[in-house]
Amino acid sequence: MLEIDKTGTGDFLAGGGEMGALMRAHDWTATPLGPPESWPQSLRTVLRILLTTNHPMFIWWGDELIQFYNDAYRQTLGPERHPSALGQRGRDCWQEIWPIIGPQIAQVMGGGGPTWHENQLVPVTRHGRLEQVWWTYGYGPIDEDGRVGGVLVVCRDVTRDYLAAAALREREAELARVQQIGRIGGLEVNLATGFHNRRSPEYLVVHGLPPEAANETHADWVRRIHPEDRDATERQFLDAIRGEARDYTAQYRIIRPSDGATRWIAVRSVIERDENGRALRLVGAHTDVTEQVLAERASRQSEEAFRTLADALPNHVWSGGPDGMLTWFNPRAYEYSGFHPGELDAGAWSRMVHPDDAERTLKAWSRAVATGEPYENEFRLRRVDGVYRWFLARAVAARDEQGAIVRWIGTSTDVDDQKQIAAELAKLNATLEQRVQDKTRERDRIWNVSQDLLLVTDRDGGFLTLNPAWQRTLGWSETDLLTHTADWLEHPEDLGVTRAQMQKLAAGEATVRFENRLRHQDGSYRWLSWTGVSDVDRNYAVARDVTAEKVAAERLKATEEALRQSQKMEAVGQLTGGIAHDFNNLLTGIVGSLDLMQVRLDQGRADNLSRYINAAMTSANRAAALTHRLLAFARRQPLVPKSVDVHQLVVSLEDLLRRTIGEAIDLEVAAAPGLWPTLCDPNQLESALLNLAINARDAMPEGGKLTIACNNVRFGGLNVELPALLPGDYVCIRVTDTGCGMSPEVAARAFDPFFTTKPIGQGTGLGLSMIYGFAQQSGGHVRLHSEPGRGTTAKLYLPRDHGEIAGAPEAAKGGAAHVANGEAVLVVEDEPVVRGVIVEMLQEQGYRAFEAVDGPSGLALLQRERIDLLVTDVGLPGINGRQLADQARQSRPDLKVLFMTGYAESAAIAGGFLEPGMELIAKPFDLDDLLARIKQLIEA
Ligand code: ADP
Ligand code: MG
Repeated sequence: MLEIDKTGTGDFLAGGGEMGALMRAHDWTATPLGPPESWPQSLRTVLRILLTTNHPMFIWWGDELIQFYNDAYRQTLGPERHPSALGQRGRDCWQEIWPIIGPQIAQVMGGGGPTWHENQLVPVTRHGRLEQVWWTYGYGPIDEDGRVGGVLVVCRDVTRDYLAAAALREREAELARVQQIGRIGGLEVNLATGFHNRRSPEYLVVHGLPPEAANETHADWVRRIHPEDRDATERQFLDAIRGEARDYTAQYRIIRPSDGATRWIAVRSVIERDENGRALRLVGAHTDVTEQVLAERASRQSEEAFRTLADALPNHVWSGGPDGMLTWFNPRAYEYSGFHPGELDAGAWSRMVHPDDAERTLKAWSRAVATGEPYENEFRLRRVDGVYRWFLARAVAARDEQGAIVRWIGTSTDVDDQKQIAAELAKLNATLEQRVQDKTRERDRIWNVSQDLLLVTDRDGGFLTLNPAWQRTLGWSETDLLTHTADWLEHPEDLGVTRAQMQKLAAGEATVRFENRLRHQDGSYRWLSWTGVSDVDRNYAVARDVTAEKVAAERLKATEEALRQSQKMEAVGQLTGGIAHDFNNLLTGIVGSLDLMQVRLDQGRADNLSRYINAAMTSANRAAALTHRLLAFARRQPLVPKSVDVHQLVVSLEDLLRRTIGEAIDLEVAAAPGLWPTLCDPNQLESALLNLAINARDAMPEGGKLTIACNNVRFGGLNVELPALLPGDYVCIRVTDTGCGMSPEVAARAFDPFFTTKPIGQGTGLGLSMIYGFAQQSGGHVRLHSEPGRGTTAKLYLPRDHGEIAGAPEAAKGGAAHVANGEAVLVVEDEPVVRGVIVEMLQEQGYRAFEAVDGPSGLALLQRERIDLLVTDVGLPGINGRQLADQARQSRPDLKVLFMTGYAESAAIAGGFLEPGMELIAKPFDLDDLLARIKQLIEA
């Protein structure tokens, strides 16, 4: 309630506390205002309000801006201005802030209307210092007589409010910054009003929302959650609110709207509740923890990978904390030690360390743990069966980014085997030198004492190293031999053999074996048997001196030859004995007959002469047959091989054979279609067949069957059954009887000459031996298959003739038709009886006969006379018959020659020996045969 001044004097200054008193006491006359009684009404009114209000007020009045203020205002001034400011000119009072307020005052005083300033900093000097003071104030005009008489200041010191608000703003800004830096999204949910919420800008960033989503609904949030987490997350949130919890934490995935990415959000919130526990508000912090989650997962995966790896390793793998306490071992460690999982943890593992290694091992481990340096140690660990084995343990510390040890990871590897090998190796190494020496000495000894010639050469065979055996064997010193090849030592016939073989080795042949002769220093030669091998650029050869063996072999050969010779002599003796016996019988027959003839002739009786002659002839013929057989056995019979159809020959012999074997024995000659021709002497073949038939007859005294069959045989490659036969085509003649057969002993000797099981006078023992000789000489073979009581088969193989079969044998005696017409025949024969008989016969037949005793005289005759036919013995003294014929033919190329021979050197002689116009007749012959051949030749 204003106290109205009714007096019109100083009453308007009544009251007003201290300031009222001061105003009343003030000497206003010294001011432009003059005494209060003169002050205008408007001023008085305002002053009355000023002094009666508790609201701080201040007045500038008049042009001088004389100041008034009340008690409430007093505190804002401070001792510097109060009470001096009362009645003071405004400009004088507020010099320091006049630039701020001066224009504002001027504006009001000039009629520009009131001003209003909020939270304006207007520093004020108070209590001796310049205070920063914020004001909210207004300057209002005080009207006076139609114009502005003064300025009423209504102000409030808002410094405290202002600073509080500023501090709050700053805190909020800081919070926002912190949120921003920490990427923490703030969320405030008003639960009392049903999930009204407020989201901080960072929340929007974390959740990938646009700014306008700051007030999104609960449903929006739920929709944003990853479908897999959605229901669970929402349920958890609602449960937390409906329950009693004051903390609510969650972690879930969202599909971030800004980019569709799946992100992990972690939430920590506080739920504020009233006294009844009802949830009022939730304040939460949201952070994107995707990186952490992924990192955790990755680390979990790498941890798992580590475990899997460790489980798979054959080594012991273990890990422990930074303090060195082991917390994990892989299964290998448990399997090895026999402890159960967990029993090795902390320091317990040292239980498996060998007592002798325990202290050292623990020390090494402690040192590693203390320094963080890698741990490496070897020690023995006890296996479940009590055996200790050596292990090499290694461990390294795993550290975090700061370098602090997070854990230790270690392995223990079984090195027992290596250790043992190393120990053995060390032992071997220690003794190596000794062993090398020993070995070298052994080698040297072998090298030096070897009787064999040891040699190392270069690739071309140049001698590089050789042993002393060389000098012992060949006399040459090492220096003589080194660097050369063996050429200069080799026997002229072996020249270059050694070098050639060494070069073969160099060319890649694995081994060579050869023999050669090398010259001894004394000029003699030694036979060496070589074996050589090669490696990269050297040849190694061993040669053995086989001279002695060679000599021995030579000697053996000579001895064998001598033995054979003596055996032959023995056989000849046997033969001679047999022949002598036979011949004596025959000669007895001849001589006896001749004696009787002589007696009869002396008596002048011619009766019985022809009987004696016949008897003598028979004996003589038998003697001739005997010599033939002997020659056949000796394979010296003159064979005249021809192409023969064996089957045909057998058929032609059938009659003769039948007569020979008699009525009691059946003869069957098997057909042989397509039989190859053979090459042999048909006369010999006939006699062979006859002999076989006779043997068969002798074996079948009670009768039986004789079969003769022929077939073709081809032997290819190695002939196991008949190794004596060369591969090729043969005709086989089988003569089979059903007789008594032979025991193995008899069969083994059946081919021996003079071997017979027959009584004296019946058997000669020459039949089979003759056949054997004939077969061999013809390039064939003969075999017997026989068992006692089961008969015998003789198989005679004769070679196939690939040429044409000779036509029917020439009419042997056809020449008999020829009548001599004084043709000149020269007979060269050293045996006078034979020569005389032949010459006499020729003369009787009407030939001009010349005779010579040997080759030279025969040649002389040939030069002198025109000779039509030369009949010559082959075995002449001086030049033989063949040489004679050759020399004669030099001047008489067409000279016909008939050779006479008692034997032929071989079958080949008969074939290769004779040229056209030459023939051969075997001795003995009867004169008719000779004459027939002579006629044949002359006629041709
Ligand atoms: P020889 O007939 O004169 O005794 P061989 O040389 O012809 O002489 O025969 C020798 C021996 O071989 C005969 O004494 C006989 O013991 C035996 N031998 C030969 N052929 C036959 C055969 N076909 N059956 C049984 N034994 C035979
Ligand atoms: Mg016989």
